[in-house]
Amino acid sequence: MSEDSTARTTAREIRAPRGAKVMQIDWADGHVGTLPHETLRGFCPCANCQGHQGPIRFVPGGDLELSEVEEVGNYAVRLVWADGHSTGLYSFRYLRELCACPTCDTRPLDERRYAR
Ligand SMILES: [Zn+2]
Ligand SMILES: [Zn+2]
Repeated sequence: MSEDSTARTTAREIRAPRGAKVMQIDWADGHVGTLPHETLRGFCPCANCQGHQGPIRFVPGGDLELSEVEEVGNYAVRLVWADGHSTGLYSFRYLRELCACPTCDTRPLDERRYAR
C-alpha cells in the first residue's frame, strides 16, 4: 500500500456529537468526511442487515440516532444505534468509501453498491 492510500484510510478524528445527524471524520490526507446517519445505518455491513451474499446495498429503516461510536483496534469502529443495533463493524476503509460529501459521492443511496 502506498503512503497516500494509507493516509486516505487513516482517521485522525471522528466527530459524532449527540443529537447530530451527520458524523464527520478528519482523514490523515486532509479530507473531511461527511457521513449522514441515514447513510451509515442504511449501509450497515452486518449480516443481519445485508444477508450473507452479494454487494452491500442500502437497506432503509432502523433508528437513525447514533448512541455510541466504539473504536475497534486501529482499523474500524462499531456503531451502536439508539434501537440497540450494534453488530455493524465499519472499517476505516469502508467509511472512506461511504463518504457522502460532494467531492466523493453524490449518487442516490439506492444506487450505491459496495464490495464486502
Ligand atoms: Zn446491521
Ligand atoms: Zn468525501
